[in-house]
Amino acid sequence: MKIVFATNNAHKLSEVQEILGDRFRLVTPRECGVTEEIPENEPTLEGNALQKARYLYRKTGADCFADDTGLEVDALDGAPGVHSARYAPGEGHDFAANTTLLLKNMEQVPEEKRTARFRTVIALILDGKEYLFEGEVRGKILRAPDGEGGFGYDPVFLPEGYDQTFARMDMHTKNSISHRGRAVARLAAFLKERFA
Ligand code: IMP
Repeated sequence: MKIVFATNNAHKLSEVQEILGDRFRLVTPRECGVTEEIPENEPTLEGNALQKARYLYRKTGADCFADDTGLEVDALDGAPGVHSARYAPGEGHDFAANTTLLLKNMEQVPEEKRTARFRTVIALILDGKEYLFEGEVRGKILRAPDGEGGFGYDPVFLPEGYDQTFARMDMHTKNSISHRGRAVARLAAFLKERFA
């Protein structure tokens, strides 16, 4: 079964494809002729996921889903949250600049208060009906990046119960505990039951 996933981020695409398995073939917006940036200007993760899925559905008429993720840091009252992709000023998604700004804003935060969570919301539109799925992982923010893998804030995020940052984990291990992994697992369970 083909399903359109609202991302052109190759890394995310392969993470999600790995979880869904080969029964579902993920198609990018670009492959469906949607080349413009999909709008996401709602104030919540749920709002953004729905906005992107609805946009794609209007454009393609195909079954589709969109996700939105935020890193919510307790000591920063939930920031960067819905603004995680564009936390640092400037054009585009600059992962290194975002991480540098986060570490700077947390310079004074002591060890025991560096707790955070990643939260992902997925909006699915199937046969015109909307469904939401959520996943989260708790952890803490290190004082300096550690590891080269992954993307975004992975090098500074140490998931609870592990001694490796997301940037040091192989994709399979990250997927088995991550915010997006958990949200996609819920989506996958729903789709598999639906198409059993
Ligand atoms: P998006 O909604 O998935 O595009 O995520 C928004 C931003 O959150 C990204 O630009 C990244 O900075 C960050 N982010 C999302 N997922 C991850 C992840 O798995 N690891 C690290 N950072 C992430």
